[in-house]
Amino acid sequence: MTKGHLFVISAPSGTGKTSLVKALIEKDPTIMLSISTTTREPRAGEVDGKDYFFVKKEDFDKQKDNNEFLEWAFVYGNFYGTSASLVNASINQGKKVLLEIDWQGAFQIKEKYSKNQLTLIFIVPPSLEHLKKRLQGRGQDENNVVLERLALAEEEMEKSTDFDYIIMNDDFDSAVRELHQIVNRSI
Ligand code: ADP
Ligand code: 5GP
Repeated sequence: MTKGHLFVISAPSGTGKTSLVKALIEKDPTIMLSISTTTREPRAGEVDGKDYFFVKKEDFDKQKDNNEFLEWAFVYGNFYGTSASLVNASINQGKKVLLEIDWQGAFQIKEKYSKNQLTLIFIVPPSLEHLKKRLQGRGQDENNVVLERLALAEEEMEKSTDFDYIIMNDDFDSAVRELHQIVNRSI
């Protein structure tokens, strides 16, 4: 059976991973982006089933207890998880599957897939000052949420050494090119 490849992209919140992933998929529409399940409230403009599957905590717990998640984690005060069935079906069909998840989830995935089937990519901002500006500029989180996420960024960046690649998202187009090259090189 043809087997696909799994790409995990992690970064501190506000680094630009969602924007980079969107640009990458425009360049390569054959990449399948996994849609996570979360207990977080939707932000303005977010659509259920497109950005996330938004669920209540008790539904998340049910899915967790039924082993429906490939990985799950508590991130910035909410629960997030990746559906095992969706990802495994795509991998078994030989597809490139991309997970946009935090480092805790990345480490769980690392335990489950062989090295030749998995590429772990960590995105870093040019500086914490840049990160703060991006989090504030996105204008979607309250200031206390921005500060909370910023406070965790340094600790999160320490985990980057366990990833296969580190990309700095300074110039956006260069970062997209680098990401695209890594994806092409890994399959
Ligand atoms: P994440 O998914 O990592 O939380 P987003 O993709 O939502 O981050 O990006 C956070 C903000 O930073 C957005 O407003 C986005 O437009 C902006 N941004 C992304 N990449 C860059 C970049 N290279 N330079 C400047 N701003 C950027
Ligand atoms: P946000 O609330 O900004 O959409 O995402 C917050 C954090 O949760 C980000 O670091 C994002 O990568 C992470 N995240 C999103 N989905 C998942 C998931 O399914 N599993 C894990 N472990 N983290 C996730």
